[in-house]
Amino acid sequence: MKCIYFTVLIWIFWIALAGCDTSDGEGFNRELFTVSGPVDAGEIGFALSHEHLMSNFGLPIDETDNYDEAVLFEQVIPYAKKLHALGVHTIFDYTAAYFGRRADILKTISDSTGILIVTNTGIYGAANDRYIPDYAYLETPEELAARWADEFENGIDGTGIRPGFMKLAFDSGGPSEIDKKLFEAGVLTHLQTGMTIAVHTGSNPNAVHSQLEILDRHKVSPEAWIWTHANWHADTDFLLMVASRGGWISLDGVKEDNIDEYINRLEIFRREELLHKVLLSHDGDAWPMGAEIRPFHAISTHLLPALRENGFTEEEIKLIFTKNPGMAYGIKIRPAKD
Ligand SMILES: [Zn+2]
Repeated sequence: MKCIYFTVLIWIFWIALAGCDTSDGEGFNRELFTVSGPVDAGEIGFALSHEHLMSNFGLPIDETDNYDEAVLFEQVIPYAKKLHALGVHTIFDYTAAYFGRRADILKTISDSTGILIVTNTGIYGAANDRYIPDYAYLETPEELAARWADEFENGIDGTGIRPGFMKLAFDSGGPSEIDKKLFEAGVLTHLQTGMTIAVHTGSNPNAVHSQLEILDRHKVSPEAWIWTHANWHADTDFLLMVASRGGWISLDGVKEDNIDEYINRLEIFRREELLHKVLLSHDGDAWPMGAEIRPFHAISTHLLPALRENGFTEEEIKLIFTKNPGMAYGIKIRPAKD
């Protein structure tokens, strides 16, 4: 009899655990899809939330898939190893399809360095639409969503490697029909897959409002959405407003010479108790069309010491660089809260 009581107790305890939101714990009940397979989103270590291991941004759309792989590996792998030695454990790679995404190359870099790499699906709508393929104009949001959900289920370009998030983009100015359509496709894909929607938006409040409106229309929480290049927008109050609605604020332009600016902004987010909505990165590129590396180690070498000097605790640092990326990118369908 005792044994039955005990079993029931364990069972109740298990149900209670499974039912509670463990967002404050280490295990998030969410998976993160890396190029080497799924990992627990609570186990990603120190993460850079927006970088490029390589890209062909600038080349014509039909040439961006091609890399001289031997030369690329010679440049990128030692740099990625250096980052790993500095403590970087996970990198979210923002090179989208049609400007140089190659899941197989990312897998080789990950295997050679021990860094976890997360790649993406979606279509990049900025750069005056030069990386939007023709079919995107003809298809419905539902058809585009089916393509991205298929990559999520079955892998990218026959590699079996699955994307971990969506990368989209809005041009500056009033949001165009194609940018809005691609975003709507992203929201539909989120509802099927739980992938997060990261959107190159920059300093464009109209685009932010448009994206929030489309999320709202489909009853998806802003927690499923990342405002990429939010650091380009000078009005910090607007960033705070978006963060308080649940959106992820990606401050992704850290450089050795702008550390103070980042400390100032992070202090404001801390004061407003919104540090749990911030993602930090460099938007670096280890192979920008084969040119010199646009570095992404200033966070490790310059920002982290400055954060400590300015009184940020180890717990807050872990929040920004480990817990927030795990929460932001962990696979989960996030319906709007009533
Ligand atoms: Zn980028």
